[in-house]
Amino acid sequence: MSDYRAPVKDMRFVINELAGLARINELPGFEEATPDLVDAVLEEAGQLAAEVISPTNAIGDSQGCQLKDGQVYVPEEFKAAYRQYAEGGWPGIAMDPEFGGQGLPTLVGTAVEEMLQSANLAWSLGPLLTEGAIHAIELHGTAELKDKFLEPMISGQWTGTMNLTESQAGSNLAAIRTQAVPEGDIYKVTGQKIFITWGDHDMTDNVIHLVLARTPDAPAGVKGLSLFVVPKMQINADGSVGERNGVTTVSVEHKLGIHGSPTCVLDFANAEGYLVGEIGAGLANMFTMMNRARLSVGLEGVAITERSYQQALAYALERIQGGGPGHEGDVAIIQHPDVRRMLLTMKATNEAMRAMAYVNAAHIDQAERATDESERAAHQARVDLLTPVVKGWLTENSQALTSLGIQVHGGMGYVEETGAAQHYRDARILTIYEGTTGIQAADLVGRKILRDGGAAVNDLLDEMAALDTELVAAGDELSTIHAAHIAGVSGLRESVKWLLENAATDANVPGGVSYHLLMQAGTVVGGWHMARAGLVAKQKLDDGVADADFYRGKLLTARFYAEQVMPLAYSHARSVRAGSDTIMAFSLEQFQNE
Ligand SMILES: Cc1cc2nc3c(=O)[nH]c(=O)nc-3n(C[C@H](O)[C@H](O)[C@H](O)COP(=O)(O)OP(=O)(O)OC[C@H]3O[C@@H](n4cnc5c(N)ncnc54)[C@H](O)[C@@H]3O)c2cc1C
Repeated sequence: MSDYRAPVKDMRFVINELAGLARINELPGFEEATPDLVDAVLEEAGQLAAEVISPTNAIGDSQGCQLKDGQVYVPEEFKAAYRQYAEGGWPGIAMDPEFGGQGLPTLVGTAVEEMLQSANLAWSLGPLLTEGAIHAIELHGTAELKDKFLEPMISGQWTGTMNLTESQAGSNLAAIRTQAVPEGDIYKVTGQKIFITWGDHDMTDNVIHLVLARTPDAPAGVKGLSLFVVPKMQINADGSVGERNGVTTVSVEHKLGIHGSPTCVLDFANAEGYLVGEIGAGLANMFTMMNRARLSVGLEGVAITERSYQQALAYALERIQGGGPGHEGDVAIIQHPDVRRMLLTMKATNEAMRAMAYVNAAHIDQAERATDESERAAHQARVDLLTPVVKGWLTENSQALTSLGIQVHGGMGYVEETGAAQHYRDARILTIYEGTTGIQAADLVGRKILRDGGAAVNDLLDEMAALDTELVAAGDELSTIHAAHIAGVSGLRESVKWLLENAATDANVPGGVSYHLLMQAGTVVGGWHMARAGLVAKQKLDDGVADADFYRGKLLTARFYAEQVMPLAYSHARSVRAGSDTIMAFSLEQFQNE
């Protein structure tokens, strides 16, 4: 079984040097988020994750969740860990102080979230969805709704869920049928939702569902959807938990991974609900929650890869097998170049992934708090552009990287008792929920690139290209990184240009090339952050910093990324250029003629 320890050094490096904590610290309301305070938060959260939550990971995997007499039960150990998490004030770390939160930046909340996810991915989904539900109520709810729900959710007393999916409405939410009929001030909600994460459990005494439903006479399609908050238990006038509302758990899914996360079919039968935001604005309002949740799922890709890497590394240091050049007798497998290649692929890619996720979180903080309006808009444009890349690229990578985690173990990775297989199974959902990779790729290409004629992506490309001067000035030590960076950025620029030219004449081009364009963009943006990391590391070494070994390792990691990961961008670019002709040329008969 693996132990988890928070990678605090790398987190601190990314937060301070790449995401720019100093700038975030200057924003109104974030004056307390000094490097020292952030360090203390990281240490403490790391301890909670490693000592309290991580030991529940394998237990959740083997025990799963049980539905008995309409109530879902999660492992006892989950409840004990949750109590400590809530008592420590962790649910409110980056939440509004007006409702009991600690008001720290999203950047800091992101690092804490990564630790919880690494410690136990299934368990951490409860807090993740609660956070999204809090944001939706905060931004779109009435003062009355905020008073009723926010404090108990921010304190961890109640958890939240997100109810979109129905059996006929998965990627296509326009097909949602659940009804919400007005009755006085409230709505009666009726319908069935499937695959609802943490849809029911016995960890808290209420579960607050955010539900997409249709009001009577609502137009067809997404414009007819409204958002409702529907508690599992009704709430008395004094805020205490009252009678059961009309929400029943029909079943809990048996699934490949995240066994400790109850995935529920929920039946709503005249359940009392409250409208959140305007009628017909449900999807837009739900997107508040979904966009945040997409970034959190991207972060899950980092977290699960980190856990898998730590376990693979520990195994590679201990497992003795075969000899190698320069060694007498058998050696630990970490001495074999091919095992090093696997470990470094995991480490370098994941550090790029972490950088991308945290830098994006810093853009969120600036989009919300920068004093200048145009600055806020520019940061928001970057978040909008990169949300599908963070979700898509980080989670697709996590599949390949947790698979490498198994490969490092050889046969012991494939059997269950080492725990390496659990990370791989748990990671498999990440490219599916919160919008599949196909949906992220369509969002990137359609809404984020074609809609503005490439304006936002060209801004990003210009900013990335501007690193050129610094890389040249850094000299030979960074020459490999420099070459990879230039090739990556110009290759991505070419792909975007090709897309803009060809999408205009062939409607199948966007869908045909979107996956490869997303993967190319992820690889290049990740490479940009690794190049920035390499520059910082070189500067620190030149300055004679303490812990020089960490910075030498960072420089090597950046070089490994440039040599071994960046070339993937070239292969994705070739696939983009192939367009959609061959993909669409296949007749349905030809698919089956084998
Ligand atoms: C464990 C688990 C937890 C979940 N948690 C929640 C939750 O808490 N709340 C919730 O509401 N839902 C939840 N879901 C549902 C999840 O979000 C959906 O499964 C997901 O959005 C995909 O929908 P679908 O399963 O119907 O697949 P489909 O939509 O049928 O997609 C099947 C395939 O077709 C592709 N595809 C479909 N449409 C397009 C398109 N327009 N363009 C390109 N490709 C397309 C997809 O990419 C996919 O590869 C969960 C699911 C699981 C398995």
